[in-house]
Amino acid sequence: METILLLAHTEAGGGLGKPALEALSAARELGGELIVGLVGVETQAAANQIAGCGAARILAATGDAFSQPRYATDAAAAEAVCRAAGAGIVIAPATSRWARALPGVAWRLGGRVDTHATGLAAKDGAPVVTRWFYRQRMEAALTRTGRPWVILLDGGCFPAWSGPEGTAGVEPVAVEAPSSRTVVTGVQAPQAGEETIRPEAKLLFVAGAGWTKKQADGATHAAEAERLILGFLRKAEASLGGSKSLVDASGEGEAVLRCMTHLNQIGQTGSTPRHPKGLSTCCHGEEPHVVGWRFVNQRRAINLDANCGWARGKADVLYVADAFEVMRQLNRLLGA
Ligand SMILES: Cc1cc2nc3c(=O)[nH]c(=O)nc-3n(C[C@H](O)[C@H](O)[C@H](O)COP(=O)(O)OP(=O)(O)OC[C@H]3O[C@@H](n4cnc5c(N)ncnc54)[C@H](O)[C@@H]3O)c2cc1C
Repeated sequence: METILLLAHTEAGGGLGKPALEALSAARELGGELIVGLVGVETQAAANQIAGCGAARILAATGDAFSQPRYATDAAAAEAVCRAAGAGIVIAPATSRWARALPGVAWRLGGRVDTHATGLAAKDGAPVVTRWFYRQRMEAALTRTGRPWVILLDGGCFPAWSGPEGTAGVEPVAVEAPSSRTVVTGVQAPQAGEETIRPEAKLLFVAGAGWTKKQADGATHAAEAERLILGFLRKAEASLGGSKSLVDASGEGEAVLRCMTHLNQIGQTGSTPRHPKGLSTCCHGEEPHVVGWRFVNQRRAINLDANCGWARGKADVLYVADAFEVMRQLNRLLGA
């Protein structure tokens, strides 16, 4: 196996985040000599965090310029570290920071890049990358002869490396500071993202447009729907997803679920989160929605319609029932 560079940037506290530790596991599993490259305002704490990972060298581009995500400085740092390492394979976590900077770095190095890799294995002494195409409908296994080969690894595909900390020796890498007109003045995070999107949750709870439709009594019950859903989310510590129909209605200002935004949308034009279990409620289970469930292992759905999409091999269990009634009972059991 060729030499592998694991390229990581530090997080706000100076350490390495979970995506970087997952990419480290992937790099170690691949075999071959491992070099770690770090980028950040301070890198010693991150180097110490992974002192026991077995890296032959730890290189670091350190400085105030790398305190904030910015294409010009991130690309300059990553390029310098890649050149110093001289590795044929570069593995990096697909954080928003690296996803933006590394394709350009691969081009500068005359190399190749693959994004959204979900699997990595060694075959005949070379890496084989697995990734999905066409919104997780087709899976491909890729090999390449072009080098350096930069591979951006999606989160949640490998266990995060955990091993002994220590005091690591770090080789500084000089970076020619690029001229940059970009200044990061602050961070605006959507409230809904903070409160309801929990990538680490064991359960994905999906709400569909049915919650806003007229029910058996001929009336809508949006306020109760919101109470039931939020009560369940808090008790179960679940992550909240939505169908396109529901998030569109919420986005158009209808009083539906105030915590629901387009960031919650699951599906072809939404997200594809990874959770061990999923519970769909009042959602029809049409294909453009269900492709977002590719990485949800155990799927259950509650729908009044026994012929809904979930009944056609898309869910492990379909409860043909009134979701209002089921969630009322469930919340009662959970004490919500
Ligand atoms: C190009 C393209 C991309 C798309 N991308 C996405 C995407 O990313 N994500 C996405 O979600 N959709 C996407 N769609 C839209 C998708 O095809 C569906 O229109 C959408 O998912 C329907 O949302 P829904 O199931 O919540 O609503 P509906 O189809 O209105 O279904 C509501 C369901 O609620 C049930 N229901 C009502 N009341 C109750 C009750 N009391 N208890 C139980 N069940 C009840 C009904 O039986 C019904 O099945 C896309 C479509 C296109 C064409």
